[in-house]
Amino acid sequence: MARYIESACRLCRRENLKLFLKGERCYSDKCAFERRSYPPGQHGQGRAKFSSYGLQLREKQRVKRMYGVLERQFRNFFEKAERQRGITGTNLLLLLERRLDNMVYRLGFANSRSEARQLVRHNHFMVNGKKVNIPSYLVNVGDVIELKEKSRKNAKIGESLEAVARRGVPSWLELEKDNYRGRVLALPAREDLTMPIKEQLIVELYSK
Ligand code: SF4
Repeated sequence: MARYIESACRLCRRENLKLFLKGERCYSDKCAFERRSYPPGQHGQGRAKFSSYGLQLREKQRVKRMYGVLERQFRNFFEKAERQRGITGTNLLLLLERRLDNMVYRLGFANSRSEARQLVRHNHFMVNGKKVNIPSYLVNVGDVIELKEKSRKNAKIGESLEAVARRGVPSWLELEKDNYRGRVLALPAREDLTMPIKEQLIVELYSK
């Protein structure tokens, strides 16, 4: 499967937004965006003027990069969102939030979504008592996400669980830290997703 292997911090600078792709570093003064909050490259500090297409494209790239999803899969999520009832843009964000790798990150088992994706792929988690190693698996309300018994001594996961206090666990999830388990209490409402995303621009882009 294709994956992005270049600097994650360049992506934040390109999107003019902290995407929190590097775990603890994102909260420290080593954050590249805090130090150089302009686009990368030779002309990065020049004035950027976007056409309406450019604005729509940037918004799509932001969301894709935030959730670590490549174009084909993102498009599939969009088509699924379009088929659902309600507002397509909101549906899209909710589908992305329901991904297992995102839930593992939100619950604090990992410091970033890319770390969460790797943990899921490496068979560290169960959903409702069954092994699931597909990062794009969509969880539902009431599902229980649990770290496998043999993975509970993993030092990296332990450190992440200690660090989760900093960013907090969202109100729609419940973490039982001592039992290495989390539960989906509800799906988030749009206003619960506080990142500055204008999802309507993505809908406009794909509706051309
Ligand atoms: Fe983005 Fe984190 Fe890098 Fe800062 S440290 S630029 S938030 S990936």
